[in-house]
Amino acid sequence: MSDWRPQTWAVRAQAEETSHHEHSVPIFLTSSFVFEDSEEMRAAFAGEIDRNIYGRFTNPNVEELSEKIRRLEGAEAGHSLATGMAAVFATFGALLSSGDHILACRSLFGSTHTILTKILPRFGITSTYVDAADPDSWAGEIRDNTRMIFVETPTNPAVDLVDLEWLGKLAAEKEVILVVDNCFATPILQRPLEFGAHLSIHSATKYLDGQGRVMGGVVVGGKEMVQEIYDFARATGPSLSPFNAWVLSKSVETLEVRMERHSQNGLALAEWLEGRPGVASVRYPFLPSHPQYEIAKRQMSSGGGILSFVVEGGLEQGKRFMDAVKLCSLTANLGDTRTIVSHPSSTTHAKLTEEERLAVGITPGLIRISVGLEDLRDIIEDVEQALETS
Ligand SMILES: *Cc1c(COP(=O)(O)O)cnc(C)c1O
Repeated sequence: MSDWRPQTWAVRAQAEETSHHEHSVPIFLTSSFVFEDSEEMRAAFAGEIDRNIYGRFTNPNVEELSEKIRRLEGAEAGHSLATGMAAVFATFGALLSSGDHILACRSLFGSTHTILTKILPRFGITSTYVDAADPDSWAGEIRDNTRMIFVETPTNPAVDLVDLEWLGKLAAEKEVILVVDNCFATPILQRPLEFGAHLSIHSATKYLDGQGRVMGGVVVGGKEMVQEIYDFARATGPSLSPFNAWVLSKSVETLEVRMERHSQNGLALAEWLEGRPGVASVRYPFLPSHPQYEIAKRQMSSGGGILSFVVEGGLEQGKRFMDAVKLCSLTANLGDTRTIVSHPSSTTHAKLTEEERLAVGITPGLIRISVGLEDLRDIIEDVEQALETS
């Protein structure tokens, strides 16, 4: 069993069979677990035996999901939580203390930005932003109290990349914890730990589920750090529900085939968009015109399903494009079987100033597409008619 390849684990890792000998794992909807006698209960609480105690601590469905993602990323350990943000916050909460400093890449998921700028400072934890496009500036921003570097790659929504090999070396040299939010790439396309990251975080809500049904988060990495995150979560309570864990664990069985098709459709749509009338520019990691195409080839196995493009005509034209699509969904999610379009300037990033938006690569006409698994011809026809009529 131990020599299975990661993809086989993604299909076959399974919570221990019950006396019913089920083929597909059941949902363990129970908030606690019973003991034979006081000695067994004592040993479980003392951590001397590996035993489920209480749903806030562990659950077989939750552990099955963690095991699959751990295997896919080649990590020693993993823990799954209620949402992607629960995973991000538990990571900060477990590993940082008052007086610590975080170096973060400026393009960050909105709620991560809120944690860094509004919540952590109240606990004496500060952060500095650096630009993905200016890696030379990073080393100079690392201070004596810098304890963590936090990045997303590819970034949302500009689809910029951070060179993970270079960053892994920088983190090792400066002895800081490197955390990568690997949500856009998934473990199928990118394994940050192989480049020296200590932790890789996922919003399981996105591609890991991939069908827009449930929320979840996973963090994988070295045993000791994951244990600290588990201990933090066990006490503070952002536990993943057994039902959501069951849905997510089933989804992970098809993650590889889904990501292959997302990537095929993503590349094909990016190629189709590039150079079209009305389209000023296209960003997709595996397009040779991407300024970091060489980095993409080194650290990702394919480009994934997220691309961005800029419509000529700016903010108003961007909104008109959004109003003109018929097949694509307008919704605040990504990584779904259904193609999703979003216009960051008028929605997710509308509260930022124009300068702040431009600093993370969001021009007024920028559209992000999360390319789904519909027939590619229907996706292209919808984008084409939306470009022509808007
Ligand atoms: C969605 C997302 C998150 C947050 O995940 P939730 O499951 O919504 O809490 C974090 N990082 C990135 C890059 C995301 O896209």
